[in-house]
Amino acid sequence: MPTETDVVIIGAGAAGLSAAKELSVLNRSCVVVEASHRIGGRAYSEEIAPGVWFDLGCAYLVSGPDVENHIDESNPFLDYAKNHQVVVERYSYGAQFIRNGLVLGSDEMKARAEFYASCEEAIKRSVRRGEDCAISDLIDLDNPYATPYIDMMAVTAPKDLDAASAADFFYGIEEAVDFNALNGYGNLVAQWGNDVAVSLNTKVESVDWSRDAVVVKTTKGALKARCVISTVSNGVLAARDIDFKPRLPDWKMEAVLGLPMGAENKIGVHFDKDVFGPDRGGYYQSWSDDAHGAYIDVNLMSTNVATVFIGGRFSTWMEKQGPQAAHEFAVDHIANIFGNEIRQSVNRSIASAWVTDPWVLGSYASALPGQYHQREFLPLPVDNKLFFAGEATARANGTCHGAYWSGVRVAREVAEALN
Ligand SMILES: Cc1cc2nc3c(=O)[nH]c(=O)nc-3n(C[C@H](O)[C@H](O)[C@H](O)COP(=O)(O)OP(=O)(O)OC[C@H]3O[C@@H](n4cnc5c(N)ncnc54)[C@H](O)[C@@H]3O)c2cc1C
Repeated sequence: MPTETDVVIIGAGAAGLSAAKELSVLNRSCVVVEASHRIGGRAYSEEIAPGVWFDLGCAYLVSGPDVENHIDESNPFLDYAKNHQVVVERYSYGAQFIRNGLVLGSDEMKARAEFYASCEEAIKRSVRRGEDCAISDLIDLDNPYATPYIDMMAVTAPKDLDAASAADFFYGIEEAVDFNALNGYGNLVAQWGNDVAVSLNTKVESVDWSRDAVVVKTTKGALKARCVISTVSNGVLAARDIDFKPRLPDWKMEAVLGLPMGAENKIGVHFDKDVFGPDRGGYYQSWSDDAHGAYIDVNLMSTNVATVFIGGRFSTWMEKQGPQAAHEFAVDHIANIFGNEIRQSVNRSIASAWVTDPWVLGSYASALPGQYHQREFLPLPVDNKLFFAGEATARANGTCHGAYWSGVRVAREVAEALN
């Protein structure tokens, strides 16, 4: 690792890697330092069975609805996949809703859809009035369909509704199209980022920005730079895991703390054969009157995998119970939909644990009620020496392509500042 450079980039997730690529286009030297043993960060695939990949973090290649006008709604990984013969499939599966083990009939489906639409409408009206309250203040929590709505939002937000800002949800970019990569989004990002030189197992311990040059102390020695790009999560910043000297200014920490990490985890269950049946792949929401629900994506791309999603406090609690509890919860929910016989064909499961992952400390950031305005401040540089990227700073926040575009944005800001 060199000891002097123009820019030190902290973190080799989608944001850090894209910042490094853009800086190289702009002819600026940089050193990328990554605490963990691998690149990709929250884009990470593991082999759940020989040749079958499961994404513990991002799995859906999202594109926003207004790609023509907003470049940051387009997904560069989609183009990369298409140009590198990586198999991707457009998500075009149906949705099923199961309550107490029974598929909702058409009247119930109508009532559910009306309730979900009324929630969206209440959020819209409130935000248009200029408010930013908790989503739980706006919806009828006693409605028979409140449970699946809360379960779904706890994964999306990813917080319980009393901790989720209505404005943050309202202004979030809608997903227009989703794709899945057969060998995993994490593998795709790792392949794309492979040409960036990264110093792995190199944790940044402190950043001294008290003088002209910035001194970055890592577990592999010190680096002197003209400026630093931090792409670490708001979880890592909030924990003050990196010792900034002097401390980050109050306005920056207020933005970090107003946009704390939520919890979304995924439990992937692989079966040794197709237990679901033909044309039964897709989205299922399953809940009962006396137990916590979940939503499940079943057999996408015919991989014999069901992915169970959980979010919010329940997800944090489940993480603490450990992988066996997560496995049992997931298999029970899948059996609830497809019958107890599926239990005979369970091969193995993998459960993510993002809240306790020391390099991330949560899944992705979202605003607390009343804190949506902090989105404006989080990306701003400090003293033209400390620059910030990463999913939480992006317009398409909470996504992998958003993280990518935040890296491009910050590299251009830095190049301008160094001129
Ligand atoms: C469960 C889950 C599901 C998701 N699903 C989707 C999805 O379907 N589609 C989608 O688009 N997005 C999804 N996302 C979000 C997406 O994965 C992230 O937004 C994106 O990967 C974040 O990239 P990043 O570069 O901002 O941060 P990260 O990927 O977290 O990169 C930051 C890097 O900094 C490193 N680091 C931390 N501390 C230090 C230190 N002190 N020194 C050096 N390095 C350090 C970390 O190890 C990490 O590699 C999901 C996320 C989760 C958790």
